[in-house]
Amino acid sequence: MNRKRKSHRVGWPRWPHESDACPCGSLLAYAACCRPLHAGALPDSAVALMRSRYSAYVIGIEPYLLASWHHSTRPPSVAPDPSLRWLGLEVKRQIETGPDTAIVEFVARYRLAGRGGRLHEVSRFVREAGRWYYRDGKFPECGEPGAAPAGAAFSG
Ligand SMILES: [Zn+2]
Repeated sequence: MNRKRKSHRVGWPRWPHESDACPCGSLLAYAACCRPLHAGALPDSAVALMRSRYSAYVIGIEPYLLASWHHSTRPPSVAPDPSLRWLGLEVKRQIETGPDTAIVEFVARYRLAGRGGRLHEVSRFVREAGRWYYRDGKFPECGEPGAAPAGAAFSG
């Protein structure tokens, strides 16, 4: 990771070089990982979409975040926060919950205004007309971590 190049850059998006490690942490080059999706290729799985959305947050590609968000839950905008830095992604598990639905559980680490934090989310994805979309997410650590199966977290 080239910290010098990453720090103190303001303005979005912050595109990586094609040969840079992909921001999603896959250990692949950006050009071989999330870039094709950011350029319009369709992800072949919910987890591929999830990783590409994380990368899009790191880079700050608002149009991609909105386009990959299901219309039923999509916010009007996703304004990048310049004081927020995403530091790493760990995919915990991915489960196909139906022919066109899936959940992905992940932990993303970040730094906000100088303080570190972690986002633990169980995201729901839905496929429509062959295309995966992010639908919504739950935050298991707000409740009882590990106390309920993932499906139960979505009731209500
Ligand atoms: Zn990637």
